[in-house]
Amino acid sequence: MTRHDATDPTETASDGSSYSPGPVMLSLPARDVPLGGVRDMSVQRSLPQREVPTVGAWCFLDRFGPQEVTMRVEPHPHTGLQTVTWPLTGEIRHRDTLGSDVTLRRGALNLMTSGHGIAHSEYSLGDEPVPMDALQLWIALPEDRRHGAPAFETHESLPIARLPAHQGADAEAIVVMGTFAGVESPASTFTPMVGAELHIAAGASVTVPLNPQWEHAVLGIDGDLTIEGEPGPDVNDLLYVGMERTHIEVSSKDGATVFVLGGEPFNDDLVMWWNFVARTHDEIVQAREEWEGHSDRFGVVPGHGDTRIPAPGLPGVRLKPRQRRT
Ligand code: MN
Repeated sequence: MTRHDATDPTETASDGSSYSPGPVMLSLPARDVPLGGVRDMSVQRSLPQREVPTVGAWCFLDRFGPQEVTMRVEPHPHTGLQTVTWPLTGEIRHRDTLGSDVTLRRGALNLMTSGHGIAHSEYSLGDEPVPMDALQLWIALPEDRRHGAPAFETHESLPIARLPAHQGADAEAIVVMGTFAGVESPASTFTPMVGAELHIAAGASVTVPLNPQWEHAVLGIDGDLTIEGEPGPDVNDLLYVGMERTHIEVSSKDGATVFVLGGEPFNDDLVMWWNFVARTHDEIVQAREEWEGHSDRFGVVPGHGDTRIPAPGLPGVRLKPRQRRT
């Protein structure tokens, strides 16, 4: 979906050292971000956060809805990332410069790997407002993949991990990306990670296994959750739990749906601006110029004529990498 935020230019460069916060409990509230345009839509943005710019290689997390909307995200470019589109309600038509034209429904994953460059559009179906609710996340690509070819994949049958309950019904998780509780998603990943939608039944209490070498966070989607005896994330907020945990104990009074994300800490400096994930200011400038110049780097999304989203102007200062503050 459309991105109009800019990296905070006051943030300073990191020292590049590896990162290990240990087990923490850090509540990170979502913020309401207007996307602009005539319909004045907004999203709830849970990542990046000032203290925590990335969780593993996850570098962006928006929830779009629930709302009734005619979604028209016109062609726009991406670099250096994967987009994970995970619908909760409604259908999204995706078209891209590879010629993909796919309608995404609940239970299926759209995974777009930009590599060096791709462009895509995202529409709701029909001309009238329809109920829509979706997560869209970005994953930063590592050095050995971010310069490569673009790719697009859809996964309509994702594996389920079952977590035995101490109390109440067992929990189930849809393993969207990476590995969770020993169950592996078929989707392409390029760094060790997890992204899983976890359902806890009303009155249930379960142990959620985690990889102690990874960092993790839990996004609230719906319902109430207790994690390690403390209140879990409110809807759309993230609870960052750090590293060095083999598991967390979770329970719910009325039932809950959450998204567990995590992975090996991503130690490259990331410069993010508009729809681009890069390493330096100059890479961002080049990507912007190539989009504005209709370069072959991004190509053309079929079916849109001359319609596309122009890049905003760059800020008057050099963009700097995001730095962790935990
Ligand atoms: Mn996009």
